[in-house]
Amino acid sequence: MSHTARRDELAANLDVVRRRIATACGQAGRDPAEVSLVVVTKFFPASDVRLLADLGVTDVGENRHQEAEVKAAECADLGLRWHFIGGLQSNKAAAVAAYADVVESLDRAKLVGPLSRGAHARGHDLDVLLQVSLDPPGAEHRSGADPADLADLARRVDEAGMLRLRGLMAVAPLGEEPGVAFARLAEVRADFLREHPDAAVLSAGMSGDLEVAIVHGATHVRVGSAVLGPRPQVQ
Ligand SMILES: *Cc1c(COP(=O)(O)O)cnc(C)c1O
Repeated sequence: MSHTARRDELAANLDVVRRRIATACGQAGRDPAEVSLVVVTKFFPASDVRLLADLGVTDVGENRHQEAEVKAAECADLGLRWHFIGGLQSNKAAAVAAYADVVESLDRAKLVGPLSRGAHARGHDLDVLLQVSLDPPGAEHRSGADPADLADLARRVDEAGMLRLRGLMAVAPLGEEPGVAFARLAEVRADFLREHPDAAVLSAGMSGDLEVAIVHGATHVRVGSAVLGPRPQVQ
């Protein structure tokens, strides 16, 4: 596909997604200015990131360290905010802090030290979100902290230095109505906000469920395929 055709395609998709966000905000009685769009560019090339920046995108998300590191370096001139949204290994966490502006997937205590050290090496504070698991109790564990562990994790983040606790992130579990999961998330967040009133970010909602996430208070939606198209097959 030519550069111009790709630009037109991304522009049209972005337009649809921005309208979906505006409509959902209208229905939820929220101001669209309260909801930020993070475009998830994983598996897509730096040339797409460049087009997106040109189309007014300010925030991009990546979930794999090696890919993100290269792409962020290639696009360093664009002034984008890079959100790391993937599963994080503790031996990679300091390296992620070297380019990420927001780490959304802090889900265990072991990551706090390396992220703090990485932010220190970079020379400025790093925004972090605590990833909450929405799996029903007893489910096979996927990524995300148990809601009961958030208070302890938040305390460690506050104590570590160089990390700014901004809020929570979650992914709706497979096999459950996202509205039910996000309603549970809204309760977890309400509790969390009582202790951390400044950590008001809620990153929830993807291409398939952004409307219902907005109804339940999302301030950031992470949208990949609805903007970029279907992801290339993973080998
Ligand atoms: C890939 C990904 C997204 C975007 O998913 P789409 O369904 O393509 O919009 C959002 N959040 C996380 C954590 C992801 O890994």
